[in-house]
Order: sequence, then structure tokens, then C-alpha cells
Amino acid sequence: MGSLTLFLDHVQADPYANPSKARIRLPHSVAQYPAEFLCTPHRVTALADFVHRRLHQVCTTRQFDVKAASSGWAGAKGGDVQVDLPCSQVLERTAVVITPEYIEARFCVGLPASGRSILGKWAAEILVNNTATIVEQALVYSTAYAGDLPKLKEHIESIEDQAALRAELRTRGLVAFVRNGAILPRQSGATSQPLAGGNVVRFQSPASLETEIQLPNRVVRGMALPAASLILCVGAGFHGKSTLLEALSLGCYNYIPGDGREFVTSVDDVVSIRSEDGRRVNSVDLSNFIANLPSGKSPKNFSTDDASGSTSCAASVSEVLEMGASLMCIDEDTTASNWLASSPVMSQLIKKDTIMPLEKRARELIETTGASLFLVCGSSGDFFKSADVVLKMEDYICRDMTVEAKKLAEAVETSVPAALPSKMPRFSVPSPRNLDAKTLAVQGKTFSRGRHLIQQGGERTDESSQLDLQAIPQLVTESQTRALVAAFRALGGGGAITNSLKATIDALMASIEKNGLDVLQSHAEPDGFLARPRNVDVAAAINRMRGAKLEQSQQ
Ligand code: ADP
Ligand code: MG
Repeated sequence: MGSLTLFLDHVQADPYANPSKARIRLPHSVAQYPAEFLCTPHRVTALADFVHRRLHQVCTTRQFDVKAASSGWAGAKGGDVQVDLPCSQVLERTAVVITPEYIEARFCVGLPASGRSILGKWAAEILVNNTATIVEQALVYSTAYAGDLPKLKEHIESIEDQAALRAELRTRGLVAFVRNGAILPRQSGATSQPLAGGNVVRFQSPASLETEIQLPNRVVRGMALPAASLILCVGAGFHGKSTLLEALSLGCYNYIPGDGREFVTSVDDVVSIRSEDGRRVNSVDLSNFIANLPSGKSPKNFSTDDASGSTSCAASVSEVLEMGASLMCIDEDTTASNWLASSPVMSQLIKKDTIMPLEKRARELIETTGASLFLVCGSSGDFFKSADVVLKMEDYICRDMTVEAKKLAEAVETSVPAALPSKMPRFSVPSPRNLDAKTLAVQGKTFSRGRHLIQQGGERTDESSQLDLQAIPQLVTESQTRALVAAFRALGGGGAITNSLKATIDALMASIEKNGLDVLQSHAEPDGFLARPRNVDVAAAINRMRGAKLEQSQQ
């Protein structure tokens, strides 16, 4: 079609089948984006994200996405153009792909029909007219963006700076940064829109932790949290503790300007540890936290299809350390309390010390692994002694209470005997486990249902066919979950290759880094509905998969 190419990669067999897959490709000689927006990988991701949002906006405001659904068998059906849904985070996606040669937009078309008869004229209108509108209003620089240059520039520079800030964290020995003026709370638990109105309290760093960082396009000031440390966040209920933790746990992502969480940045391998009663645990070493399991089960090599609150927490810590995570976010709201701390009185009654709680292990964990913990714990002062930083949230204002907390801890120490006299083994870094990659390919259809559920093996409805990903808040869009499904297929299709879980995932990530997300899918029918998940989240999903075969390597 002149200078553009329209691909119809898959044509649906009938109007009731999955919609057809299409792509529009435009060479740079026609799209004509300024070279400065294409000169680094971060800038390309940011530009592709901006174009994706516009593409989505054009399709929705012009109602290209509205599907005819007249009643009766012979009524008109289909006719809709669907583009992947953008989210507040700027992710590498397949909805808009930019290579050195071209820019490509991907979407689905429900080819229109009446009964089983093709409505050809209408199909032509969609494929020709709608496509032309998309090209003009979302793909060609001069017609789509030249009038909006400041907004596009700010988008690209903001993403570039957030990525630079994340890199700077490592250089400066930090794990997280919260910009002064950031808006952390959301309108509700169900949306990602920032809370608005007069009640919002913008973040302000305590003076003792305030740092200034020079980025390529701006200077930011805010709270800097140190690496290899226990950072405690305390405070009364409803004062903003979990809101701060949530923002940090999603700080691995860059945000669109205006979200409120721009420059609330964590290291890229931040993870969340939660209690997950009932989850699968696969050959995990729990011995850092658990001793004396009933009926002689070994905590060194523990598997179960039905973990308890405390064993699930212990397993998750082991698993994320295996992947090398450098910041763990733990909220008392969603963590087994017996795994966090134990009271001296209770220990006297229980006698058998089955759990060596985090409170007793945090210091050694940090010293052995170099990871940091961000722990929200407003219920007890057990962690004061071992904390490096104690933050207090009060009326949504963050204060540094480290000195006061240390004083209180010393006073208590002299009056109460220490709990658990046990001879604890040294904290050990978990040994790598081997993954039999072919066990990731499950018989039957596998697909996502929302961002937190993968249905494996077709429409089977038993629970073992459902992979529950609720405990991974860093899966922020279903497009990432779809990419997990594609990753399982790509890894499982390679045959009986056994390698360590980490090496397997790192190799996959390296190939995505080199050749783009499309390595996860077939060349013949590239999907425009994938977003890149992080390596730690791919691992988290495999760790919870009931059919995956993971084994500790023979030492
Ligand atoms: P906590 O974990 O301390 O009990 P939350 O973090 O769950 O408290 O926050 C309680 C409520 O306060 C939530 O509804 C949240 O949206 C709101 N909130 C949190 N931080 C702010 C803020 N900075 N400004 C205004 N409202 C906030
Ligand atoms: Mg809370």
C-alpha cells in the first residue's frame, strides 16, 4: 500500500473464531521521527510506548474498537480493531515495535460477517480507511506528533532519567529512591490512577536521608535508601506504610509523566515476599528459617503442594535469593506473623523451635547475601535492634526514627530475656536448582486469565491446572502474563534441556535483550499483546508451577 506494508498474519476461519492478526509497517524514511528519539534503547522503548498510547487512543476515540453484535445469527458481527491496553508503567512491548529500519504497529481485527457470509466492503473499509487513519494519526511523525513535541520530548526524557536513576542507585550503593513531591497513593485499590484532591500528601524525604541526584535531563531530590540494610517502616494503622511499600515494590518500572510515581525508583530486581497458604513449593532449601518439620521431613530439600504461611514465606526468600534479588519488600499485612517474629513467652510454651523467625535471621541474611529488606512492621519492636533505618509514617509524613528506635531497643534488651536459645545453623545462600525445561510445556492449551492467573492444559478446571500469580504484584499487566505463557512455550519447546533455573532464565532474558520480545513467539504470527516480564517474575511463576520439575543439584 504505497510506502506502508499491511500484514495480515492470521485470518480467522469464521466470525466466531479468535480475531485476525494484523500489522502496519512503515519505514523510517516515511515515518520520519527525529533521530534524537531513536539514538538509545531507552529512548526507543519510550518512543514506542508513546506511540502505543496514541495508537490505543486513536482506536478508542474513533470507536474502531467497537464490535457489531447484532442479535440473530444473520446479523452483522465483528468489525472491531483491538490494540493492547497500555498501563501506567512504561514497558517493552510488542504492540509497537521499532527497529533500525521501520516502525510497526500491531493489532487484532474482528473481520466482519453476517452469519457466515463475509462482509467484504466493510472489511475493506477497516483494512484501508482505518489503517490510513492509524498511520496518519499515530505513526507518521509530522501528522501525529510534530504539534505535540514538548509532550513527546518530556515523555522520552522522563523515561530516560528514570532508567538513569535506577542505574545510579547501584553506583551509589542504594536500593531505592523516593522523589520529593511524589504522589504514592492511588484513587482506590482497584485503579492505578493517582489519588487527587486536597487530601493528598506528597512525599517529602526526612532531612537525614535526603539526597540530590543529577540525571541526564534534570536533578531530583528525595529519600535514598541504602543497600545491604534492614529498612523498617513503622507507624499506626492507616498512616501510609503499605502505600510506601507498594510504590517501592513497583519501583523497578518507569512511569509515564503525571502518574505521581515517576522517580520512585528501586533496583530492577526488587521482589515482594508474601504469605501464600496452599502454594506449590519445589525442592527448596528452607533450613535458614525452618527446623523440625513433622514426620522427619527435611527442610533442606522441601517440596509440598500445600505450603503453610510460614513455609511459603521461607520458600519465597530462598527462591528470590537463588535469583539474586537485591531488595525484598515485606508487609506485615500479608506475611505470616509467626515467620516474622516470636515472643519469648510463646517459645516457652511451644518448646520445639520449628521456626527461626526473620527477626532472628535478618542481620545474617543481609550480611551473607548483600540484599536489603524493606519491612513494614507496626506491630512490634522486635526488629529495632537489627534495623539500619527506621522510618515512621504518621499522617502520611515520613520521619527518620532510627536513633529513637535504637535507644528503645537497648532499654528493652536489658529487661526481657532473649527468645529461642537454639543453636541456629549459619545462614546459607541457597544452592541453585536445576530445571527440566520440557516440564514447562503443558499438554493442552495454556492461556492467561487476567494478570494473576495462568490456565494450563485447556479448560480443565481442577486447581492443579491453575497457576496462581497473586503473590507477584510486579506483574502489572496481563500482557506480561501472556509473555510468561509464551516464555514457557519457548523454554519447554527446546526439549529435555536441564540447566540451573537461573541460567535458563538468564539465557532467555539475554536473547530478549538482543533480539527483542519477538523471540518468545512464532515469526509467522507475531502477537502485539506481549510485554516484557522481569527475570525474577519468570522465576517466581515457574517456582509456583505444579508440574514443573525442579531439583537441587547434587553437591
Ligand atoms: P497502613 O499500611 O499504614 O495501614 P495504607 O498505606 O494502607 O496504611 O494507607 C491507608 C490509606 O491512606 C489508603 O487508603 C491510602 O490510599 C491513603 N494514603 C496513603 N498515603 C497517602 C498520602 N500520602 N496522601 C493521602 N492519602 C494517602
Ligand atoms: Mg498496611
